[in-house]
Amino acid sequence: MSHKECNGCHTSKPATIEYFKTHKKNIDRLTNSCRDCLKRYERKRYARSQQKVQESAVVYVATIEALLQDAETEREKNNGSPRRAIGDTQAR
Ligand SMILES: [Zn+2]
Repeated sequence: MSHKECNGCHTSKPATIEYFKTHKKNIDRLTNSCRDCLKRYERKRYARSQQKVQESAVVYVATIEALLQDAETEREKNNGSPRRAIGDTQAR
């Protein structure tokens, strides 16, 4: 049985689908990393993608807050700006 060295853990393992996943583009039709390593990569990638989702959510919230803040200051500016007659007669 031919063996194949895994690119991830550099361990020589039997070149079978039991240890490697099938990969159409490779000559031996097997992935360059063993199943254990692929599983590990997968978990890492998943964790990273989850982290990214959280980060983008934070950015999203920050953007919304900035927009709200802008609207708030805009409103204050309008309220603060002197208005003609109406404001003068009703305030005093
Ligand atoms: Zn491996």
